[in-house]
Amino acid sequence: MRRSVLDDWIRQKEGWAELSREKIEAMQLKKINLLLAKTKQKGKFYQYLPEKISSLEEMKKIPLLTEQQLITNHRGMLLLSQSEVSKIITMYSSATTGQAKRLFFSASDIEKTVDFFACGLQEIASKGDRCLVWMPANTENSVGSLIARALGRIKAEALICSMDETLDAVADFVINKKINCAVAMPFKMLSLMRYADKTGKSLPPTSVMISADSAPPFLKQELGERYALQVIEHYGSSESGLGGALECGAKNGMHIRENDLLIEIVDDKGNWVQKGETGNIVLTTLSHEAMPLIRYQTGDNGALSAYPCRCGSVLNRLQNVYRNATANEMGELNAILFLQKNVLDYRMLRKDNRIRIEVMLMGKVDREKIKEQLQRVVLQKGWGARVDVHWHVEKLSLHKPYYQAKRKIIAE
Ligand SMILES: [Zn+2]
Repeated sequence: MRRSVLDDWIRQKEGWAELSREKIEAMQLKKINLLLAKTKQKGKFYQYLPEKISSLEEMKKIPLLTEQQLITNHRGMLLLSQSEVSKIITMYSSATTGQAKRLFFSASDIEKTVDFFACGLQEIASKGDRCLVWMPANTENSVGSLIARALGRIKAEALICSMDETLDAVADFVINKKINCAVAMPFKMLSLMRYADKTGKSLPPTSVMISADSAPPFLKQELGERYALQVIEHYGSSESGLGGALECGAKNGMHIRENDLLIEIVDDKGNWVQKGETGNIVLTTLSHEAMPLIRYQTGDNGALSAYPCRCGSVLNRLQNVYRNATANEMGELNAILFLQKNVLDYRMLRKDNRIRIEVMLMGKVDREKIKEQLQRVVLQKGWGARVDVHWHVEKLSLHKPYYQAKRKIIAE
C-alpha cells in the first residue's frame, strides 16, 4: 500500500531526510511559539494568550475560541492590513442567528492551500488525468478555482462543472469530456451515480475525492462497492483554510496536514480526550498569516486515531468525523432517506414551526413508513410541530441537486 502522499510533501517542505512524530511535534511547538509572538505584537484580540508555551500539552491552558468570539472580533484577529487580504470568506451560521462570520486570507495563505491540494489530489489523479471539479468556482479564489489550479500543477486537466446544472447535464458532461476522476460533495456524487445508473448512462470516473459535507459510511460504501469508485475523503473547512485532512488508500481515517494545522480533540469541559475517543475538534492554524485561529472550536466531532496507519504514515489521523455536530442537522435524515436506493435527493425547509421535506424519487419506496420516521426525528429535535413530506417522481432529467453547499435546513 502506498504511504499517504502528505508524508513526503511535509518531509520535503521541512527539508528533513526522515519524518517522525518527534520532529512533527517539535515543529508544531516551534510554529505555535512564533504565532504567539506575532499575535502579541499585532493582534488586538489575542492579548490574552501566553507569550510562550514549553510543550504541546500546555495548549490546554489556552482558552478555547468560540464561534461567537470569531463573529464578534474578526477585525481584531486580523494580523495584516486590509490591503494585504486577498480573500474573505463570509459565512452565515444557522446556529448563531444569521450573524456573519468572516475569515481573512492573504495571498500566501491561499498559496499554501493550493500547494496542499496539489499534493492531496495525487491520491485520485495524476498527470494526464481528466478531473471533474464539481465545486463552486465562480470567483478566482473560490474552492473550485483553487482545486483547478492545483490540478494544473500536477498536469491533470480540470473540467469545471457549474453547480447549477441538472444531474442529466453533469452526467453528459462527464461522459463527453471523458472524465476519469472527480472532486465533488458527497451526496451530490451519490445522486449523480444513482441517476446515471437509473438512466443507463455509463460514467467513466474510477476515483473521487469527496469533501465539504458529511460522508457517512453507507455513502462511501455505496460509491465504492456499487459504483466501483476509489473514494478518498477530505476534511476541511473555511476555518482550516479549506484544506485539512485526507484519507489514504488504507481508508481508516484522514491524515492531518500537521505542518499547517494542530488538531486537538476535547470533551465538553475542554479537556483532552484519549486517542481513539470522540470529542469536539479544536483547530489551530499554525501558518496562516492573515488571520490565524488559535484553539478554535469547530463544532465538528471526531477522534484522533489510537493506532498507526497501515500505510506507514506517521501523521495523525482524524476518524469518525461528524460535521456540524453543534447544529446537529441532517445526519439522521440523510440516513433515513439516502439508505433508500430509490431516493435521488431531498431537502428540508422550515417556515415558522412547519417543516416541509421534499423528496425526489426514482422508484417505489414505503412512503408511509419513511414519513413516520421523518416525523419522529423532526419532533424529537424540536425543529417544528408539523411535518409535511412532498414526494416528487416526475421529470427526473430536469432535476437539479437541491443543495449547492452543505446540506442543512433551509429557512423560508
Ligand atoms: Zn494512511
